[in-house]
Amino acid sequence: VEHYLHNIKEKAELNAFLEVFEEEALAQATIVDQKLANGTAGKLAGMVIGVKDVIAYKGHALQASSQILNGFKSLYTATALERLIAEDAIIIGRQNCDEFAMGASNENSSFGPVKNADDPTRVPGGSSGGSAVSVQADMCLAALGSDTGGSVRQPASFCGVVGLKPTYSRISRYGLIAYASSFDQIGLFTKSVEDAALLLEIMAGPDEYDSTASHQPVPSYSSLLKTDKKYKIGYIRDCFESEGLDTEVKDSILGVKDMLQADGHQVEAVEFPYLDYMVPTYYILTTAEASSNLGRYDGVKYGYRSPNISDLTSLYKQTRSEGFGKEVQRRIMLGTFVLSADYYDAYYTKAQKVRRLIKEKTDELLQKFDFLILPTAPTTAFKIGENTANPLAMYLADIFTVQASLAGVPAISIPVSRDTNGLSIGLQLMTRSFDEAALLAFSNYIL
Ligand code: GLN
Repeated sequence: VEHYLHNIKEKAELNAFLEVFEEEALAQATIVDQKLANGTAGKLAGMVIGVKDVIAYKGHALQASSQILNGFKSLYTATALERLIAEDAIIIGRQNCDEFAMGASNENSSFGPVKNADDPTRVPGGSSGGSAVSVQADMCLAALGSDTGGSVRQPASFCGVVGLKPTYSRISRYGLIAYASSFDQIGLFTKSVEDAALLLEIMAGPDEYDSTASHQPVPSYSSLLKTDKKYKIGYIRDCFESEGLDTEVKDSILGVKDMLQADGHQVEAVEFPYLDYMVPTYYILTTAEASSNLGRYDGVKYGYRSPNISDLTSLYKQTRSEGFGKEVQRRIMLGTFVLSADYYDAYYTKAQKVRRLIKEKTDELLQKFDFLILPTAPTTAFKIGENTANPLAMYLADIFTVQASLAGVPAISIPVSRDTNGLSIGLQLMTRSFDEAALLAFSNYIL
């Protein structure tokens, strides 16, 4: 704990933490020490973990990096976090992120951007940027993030760490602030695949507080990491031909593909006809869900209330105008528009249908292949400010991560190389729903 606290102070300018639980973590470490001495310590004894500011921790502030939740404290702990604590993990602090997890660069936080530790003039990716950087820069051993359309995988790719988004419903969402509920999953950042496997097996499984959490049995992922199987791997040809894909990223991922082939795996190019529809479908559906989920922040129930009010309407209006940042407001408006009576069928219903096509095609490919491989992101970490003037350019950064989110399948980003600027390049692997055991074993083999 002291080691990580030291690093957190030393690297404060990266802006990864919103709050550090210094005394609490030290006190917890003493308790864990005693448990270790008398043989009662849990499986995660001494593992120091940071938590993205969208996951509830009883008695602690929780604000999704937004001003609208200013002053709010959690009344309960998220199930995933509760399970880690029950195994004696030590929680070290609350981490910066894009406001309400909306973003791909961590520039939408009301607490300022997080900086990439490899090059502080560059973004760490988002929305879980603080969590990615804190693992990258050794400010904690592992971190919990959330992934709705890539928010764990893309920052993991930009920061050179492992980022896992499990199957939708594998981990309970109880205590996770909702962005787009049919996509949201808690995910994790680690330095190794082993740590990801261990944390996943502890967090996953049914939960009486989340009826969508799956009852599928949870394998002991950490004891299934060895594999010498030869796999069938598909790579989506269209992804590698897409405009905007950086050539160094492309070459590096194709290099891994060749290496796998040389190792005796069967690698084949596959067609995926929906690449152009992925980002639009994702943004129509997630903004629709967000506009509904964020309706609860009305100045009455949580956190911030504007002092400049004269009646009920102005209470809502002023509170939401002052409390939400620009990007969140943009998405609430987009979502409200696509759900409005005149446009519902043209946008929302249509996007639901396209989502089903994307899911069916993805599942079909994953019946034929054990894994699909593709880049996690089209570029390496870009400069702070480079994409902020152009929200559409920013949305396109999600092109390769939203497929797994639309289809609900598990996906992981693992660091496979670096570009000429020394910036990390992530390889993304997808597999069948609930086959995280194979996904982790194969990732471990590649790394
Ligand atoms: N960049 C995507 C978005 O802005 C993904 C965010 C996420 O996964 N939370 O919606």
